[in-house]
Amino acid sequence: MEKKRIVTGDRPTGKLHIGHYFGSLINRVKLQDEYEQFILVADVQALTDNFDNPEKVRNNVRELVMDYLSCGIDPEKTTIYIQSMIPETTELTIYYSNLVTVARLERNPTVKTELAQKKHVFGENITYGFLGYPVNQAADITILGGEVVPAGEDQEPLIEQCREIVRKFNSIYGDVLKEPEIYLSENKRIKGLDGNDKMGKSLGNAIYLSDTPEEITRKVMSAVTDPNRIKKDDLGNPDVCMVAYYHKLFTGKEDLQKVCEECRAGKRGCVACKKELAQNIIEYLRPMREKREYLEAHPEIIDKVLLEGTAKAKKEAEKIMKKIKQAMKLDYFGNINK
Ligand code: ATP
Ligand code: MG
Repeated sequence: MEKKRIVTGDRPTGKLHIGHYFGSLINRVKLQDEYEQFILVADVQALTDNFDNPEKVRNNVRELVMDYLSCGIDPEKTTIYIQSMIPETTELTIYYSNLVTVARLERNPTVKTELAQKKHVFGENITYGFLGYPVNQAADITILGGEVVPAGEDQEPLIEQCREIVRKFNSIYGDVLKEPEIYLSENKRIKGLDGNDKMGKSLGNAIYLSDTPEEITRKVMSAVTDPNRIKKDDLGNPDVCMVAYYHKLFTGKEDLQKVCEECRAGKRGCVACKKELAQNIIEYLRPMREKREYLEAHPEIIDKVLLEGTAKAKKEAEKIMKKIKQAMKLDYFGNINK
């Protein structure tokens, strides 16, 4: 039986953090045997809000791929490629732009949240490119026939937008495209160190997979705890404490229970609790850090993965674009150039 296809990706706007790991990477590692997996480095999408900083986007492409390989994504099983090197995606974005209204994009909850977060950059002046990035993302998924998209919860409205575009396309031009489904993980939205609802690369509230033990300790020490707890023997509430929240991810069940009980009974100081958490995170991420150190010393491995992956993705995209152009009556002269 043919394997179902996964298409997903990340923006090269920074290194990957534990929100990415628990929200999405963990599933990609798990699913890469069962599915045919494509992961794109979304440089075009990253430019929509970083167009004035191309170095940042460029420099983060390799960082992203090093993070992928360090956390267990295997390039023998997963195809990793660069979005801008598949021009069929850009072409398809234009075709799709007729199938979605400006009002619908403005109502997209993810776009709305991101605009609210970035208002100091955009103010009223939201660009055509940023507003349209969900359309570009729909093209990313469908140009490779993506059926399953492992992603965090913030991506749900974007996948829904993609599904609407697919349905509209198929109803007008014929049944050519597949409607993808999101694959959410158990921890679908990891909060930030500052208590923000989402840990984000662009939000300055993240623990990165590649952080050194010193950086991890420093960040954990700055995490937001129960504001009502001032002295050690004040009774704490782990439900409003970011340290307890991360203990749930990095600390074994029994120890976690002890953490929460001692906190509620005022028998555990926040400093000791943070030190214990930092140590657990440092150990959890150690194998990833070590693998990354090796890759940092061997950039040729990353180049090879990207070159081979992009060549494979391009071939697949060409095949699907041929079908799309036929369906749209754009196959002049027998599609000789495709
Ligand atoms: P940026 O702030 O530049 O948008 P980001 O941290 O949101 O960066 P993306 O590259 O936009 O990262 O997202 C990549 C993937 O990681 C998406 O599937 C997204 O849902 C997931 N993801 C990002 N942050 C989290 C989080 N805090 N919890 C769970 N999943 C997350
Ligand atoms: Mg994002």
